[in-house]
Amino acid sequence: MDLRYTEEEEHFRDELRSWLAGVLPDVPPVPADHTDLVARRAYDTAWQAQLHEAGYAGIHWPAEFGGRGSTPTEHLIFLEETERAGAPYVGVNFVGQLHAGPTLIAEATDEQRATHLAPILKGEHVWCQGFSEPGSGSDLASLSTRAIDDGDDYVVTGQKIWTSFAQVADYCELLVRTDPEAPKHKGITWVIMPMNLDGIEIRPIDTALGSGEFAEMFLDEVRIPKVNRVGDENDGWRVTNVTFSFERGTAFISEVISSQRLLADLAQVAQKVTRRSGTAWDDAGIRRELGRLDAELDALWSLTKRNVSQAQRTGMVGPGGSVFKLAYADVRKRMADLAEQVLGRAGLAIGETMDLSDLDHVGERLYTLTLTIAAGTSEIQRNIIGERLLGLPRER
Ligand SMILES: Cc1cc2nc3c(=O)[nH]c(=O)nc-3n(C[C@H](O)[C@H](O)[C@H](O)COP(=O)(O)OP(=O)(O)OC[C@H]3O[C@@H](n4cnc5c(N)ncnc54)[C@H](O)[C@@H]3O)c2cc1C
Repeated sequence: MDLRYTEEEEHFRDELRSWLAGVLPDVPPVPADHTDLVARRAYDTAWQAQLHEAGYAGIHWPAEFGGRGSTPTEHLIFLEETERAGAPYVGVNFVGQLHAGPTLIAEATDEQRATHLAPILKGEHVWCQGFSEPGSGSDLASLSTRAIDDGDDYVVTGQKIWTSFAQVADYCELLVRTDPEAPKHKGITWVIMPMNLDGIEIRPIDTALGSGEFAEMFLDEVRIPKVNRVGDENDGWRVTNVTFSFERGTAFISEVISSQRLLADLAQVAQKVTRRSGTAWDDAGIRRELGRLDAELDALWSLTKRNVSQAQRTGMVGPGGSVFKLAYADVRKRMADLAEQVLGRAGLAIGETMDLSDLDHVGERLYTLTLTIAAGTSEIQRNIIGERLLGLPRER
């Protein structure tokens, strides 16, 4: 990828900037009640519909599937500009837009693409991810949700857990076991499950942040038509790795920009927090760590460009996504450590930074804990990097 922007790309940036400046003042505030998922869905999908209407949905998705068909660089410009302008982000439909949709582009049949891709971009359909099970998280390939072959359907029974936004989703990217006799990686199938089928029960799980988007999903003889299978039967582990390459490699990229904003804000906060003499900013150790983290975020942005460019060339990110995810989770954890150091006692209670900043550095601490777990834990990313990139012996 050429890291300089072409005249055309700069033109795209200018056009987008002025569109955002025109529409954002009329966008209502985010629903105050974070636990009201119906309101959050309505808010997020309304913004998505507005983007679609203006031709800014699916910037790098092929035009034949309703996207803008632009270059990965324009996609990065879109993320930069929307994040810097404080525009809403994908929200409740992060699965549909960031990894189910891209997986369908890479792996689905023409009919499946025609049915599902445009509604994701128009904000009509929301997706969730039914991968993890109790006892099958890191060792995902050991999953036991069973799909029995019955004519034109799979009859699916089992339990999923940590299914974000299942309560308000229309479709689920679901992993099921179609061959219990085969070695564990060879008996899995990736299917599209409409969430309105009989036999699906959703039970919400509370989170430490009080955001309430997690759920358990109980499946009791759910009949999923076989035409909803993506890839071949028992070839689901390969399709899952395509999903993971997007989930780990490109799904977090706009967060690098919001992290830069958070870090700049922390530098401002450090200049306001008083110490026995002077402010936190007078501490050379704090200034040094701020500088180091800033440089690392810059490096992550460059890695992002490399991953996005590879995804464009080859259709998927590959294990480079694990390098990004591991490094990003570490940087965010160190940012949270630094915020605690800067804020001192105020760093222990959510909301207390409000008189110092518009951003909630304490709430971010809780969020960063999830980054070392979601989309595969940091230990699992280390295993992938060790085995697939460095050629170290495989874990037993
Ligand atoms: C914010 C968030 C959103 C999520 N959303 C979804 C979702 O929408 N859909 C979904 O399906 N799942 C979702 N998950 C679940 C997530 O994918 C799992 O939590 C994750 O894969 C870890 O699995 P586990 O929780 O079962 O932990 P375990 O696998 O039980 O791991 C426990 C600990 O053991 C370590 N460990 C396990 N195996 C190894 C090993 N081989 N080598 C070294 N260490 C190891 C792990 O690193 C971890 O520290 C979400 C999780 C979070 C935090």
